[in-house]
Amino acid sequence: MPRIVLYGCALALAAGVAAIPAFAGSYLTAFVLALMISFVMAQSWDWVNGQMGYLNLGHFAFYGIGAYAFAILLTRGAPLAPSFAAAVFFGSLAALLVSLPLFRLKGDYFAFATLAIVPLCELLANNFDGLTRGSDGITLPPDYVLVPAFYMAASLAALTIAVTLWLMRSRFGYGLRAIRNDEQVAEVAGIRLFVFKLATLTLSAGFAAMAGAIQAWQFSYIAPNTMFNLGVALVPIAGALLGGSGLLLGPLVGMVLFASLEQALLVKLSHLREAVLGLMIMLIGRFLPGGLLRAKWITGHRSLFWLSRESHFEVAASTGAVSDELPLARRAIDKNQIVLACEGATMAFGGNVAVNNVSLTIRQGEIVGLVGPNGSGKTTLFNLISGIYRPRSGRILIEGKDIADFRADEIAHLGIGRTYQIPRPFAELTVRENIAIGRTFGASKTPLVDAMRTADVFARYVGLDGLLERKAELLSLQQKKALELARALAAEPKLLLVDEVASGLSTVEIATFVKHIRDIRDHYGITVIWVEHIFSALAQVVDRLIVLDNGAVIADAPLAEAMRDEKVLTTYLGHAATEAK
Ligand code: ADP
Ligand code: MG
Repeated sequence: MPRIVLYGCALALAAGVAAIPAFAGSYLTAFVLALMISFVMAQSWDWVNGQMGYLNLGHFAFYGIGAYAFAILLTRGAPLAPSFAAAVFFGSLAALLVSLPLFRLKGDYFAFATLAIVPLCELLANNFDGLTRGSDGITLPPDYVLVPAFYMAASLAALTIAVTLWLMRSRFGYGLRAIRNDEQVAEVAGIRLFVFKLATLTLSAGFAAMAGAIQAWQFSYIAPNTMFNLGVALVPIAGALLGGSGLLLGPLVGMVLFASLEQALLVKLSHLREAVLGLMIMLIGRFLPGGLLRAKWITGHRSLFWLSRESHFEVAASTGAVSDELPLARRAIDKNQIVLACEGATMAFGGNVAVNNVSLTIRQGEIVGLVGPNGSGKTTLFNLISGIYRPRSGRILIEGKDIADFRADEIAHLGIGRTYQIPRPFAELTVRENIAIGRTFGASKTPLVDAMRTADVFARYVGLDGLLERKAELLSLQQKKALELARALAAEPKLLLVDEVASGLSTVEIATFVKHIRDIRDHYGITVIWVEHIFSALAQVVDRLIVLDNGAVIADAPLAEAMRDEKVLTTYLGHAATEAK
C-alpha cells in the first residue's frame, strides 16, 4: 500500500477514535477504552514474546501492580500525575526485580516461572492489607473520569504503536530478534543478552502498569481477585496469539477481534468464559498456528498480504556501482604481535576430555590450519575461544588479555569472529539483516542504517548477491555457510575462526573460498584459524598446521614439516584422505 494511503488511514482512525467520547454513549466509550487497554497489554506483552522470544505468562501482574500503586497514592491524596508516575515506576521496578532470577531460566521454565507471578501478587495484595485494604479492595474517589481516562488510554495506545514501529526498525529491535532466533549466536555476535532482556521486560511492564492505572481510575474500584485474576490475565496473550505474535498488526487485529467476539458471545455466556477462551486457544493452535494474519488466504492474497507485515528493514536501491572493496579497515600486520595464546586449556564434558591441555600461539597475520579427526576437539576449542564454554583449567589470552572473566559478547568486541560448523544464521531474518546484525553488534559497531546499506558488499563478496532480502532459513546449506562468513567478516574481526566450510563445495567454489581467506589476510590484516577436513583446500593457503588428536595437540609446525610427521600421517592424513572421498 502506498505510504500516503497508510498515513491517511492512520489519521482517519485516530480522528475517529478521538471523536468517540463526543458522539457515542458511555457504554461504547467504556468499551473502546477497555479495548485500547487490552491492545496495550497484548502489544506490550508481544515485545517480549514476538520480538524477543520469551513467553511471559505473568504480564498481567504488572497491570495489577500499576493499578495498586496508582490507587494507593491517589486515595492518600497524591495528585494525578505523580500517582500515574508511581504506577509506571513500581511496575517497572517489579519487572527489574523479577528479571534477575527469571532470566536465568529459558524456554518452558521461564514461562512457568512467570505464571507464578500473578497468583503471588494476589497473595501479597490480600495480605498487605495495611496498604491494599486486603480483599476489601480500594475504592477510588467517585469522580466521573471516563472521558479523560479514554484520552489517556488512546494516547498510551498511540505510544505503544510508536514503540512497536521503533522496535521494528531499530538496532535494539534487531538485537531482540537475534535473541529470539538464536540466543547463543546472538551473544557471540556481540549482543549483551542480559541488558537487552532486562530493558525489554521493564519497558513492557511499564506500559502494562500504566494501562492498569488508567483502567483502575476508570473502574474506581480495584480488588486483588480482579486485578490479579489468571482468567483475565491470559486474555491479552490469547488476543496477540490469535492475531499473530511478532507481526506489526497481529496484537491489534487479534485484540479487536477478541474483544468484539467477547462482547457478542460472552455477555450471554459469561459463565462459560474460561471454557470458550480455552477452546479458542486450542483452535488457534490447531488451525492457525502463528495466528490469523499468517493464514495462507491472507499472506497469499493480493490486497490483504500487507496485514501480515513483519517489517524487514528496507534500504533504498543503491545508486551506481558499488565498489568491490570491503568496508573494512586495512590493518598493517605486525608479525610479533600475538593475537591468541592458549596455555594448557582443558575442557571436559563429564568424563570426556574434549580439549586436553592445549597450548598454542597465533601471531598476527597468520593463516593457521587446525585439523584432526572427528571428535578431536576442534569445534570445542573454538567454543572456548569465543566464550561459549569456559575452560576447566588453563588460560586463553586474546592480545594478552586473559578472557576468563569475559562474556561472549565482550570477546566478540575484542575482535573474535567465527562461523559454525553446522550453520546457525538467524533463520527468520533476511541475508541483509543477518549481515547487518554482525556488523552493528560486532567489533565494528557500525550504526544500523550504515550496516544495512553496506551489507550488499559483503553479500556479493561471498556470492550471495541477489539474495539480500531472502530469509536465511530459505537458503541452501552452502549459501548458509557463505552467509556465516559474511556475517563474521562484517563484524570486522581481528581473528576469524572458520569451522569447516569447504565440504560440499565444488572445486571452483573451494578455489574462490581459498582466495577470500588469503585476501582478507593480505588486505585487511585479519588473522585466520581454519578448521577443515578437505586437506587440499587448506594446503593452498595455510602457513602452519596444528593437529589435534583426542583433544591434545600432536603437531604444530609449518605445513610441509607437519605433513612429513609420522603421527600426523597416521592419525590425520590417512583419515582425511578417506573422508575426502
Ligand atoms: P571436532 O570439532 O574436532 O569434530 P568436537 O569439538 O565437536 O570435535 O568434539 C570433541 C569431543 O567433545 C567429542 O567427543 C564430542 O562428542 C564432545 N562434545 C562436543 N560438544 C559437546 C557437548 N556440548 N556436550 C557433550 N559432549 C560434547
Ligand atoms: Mg567440529
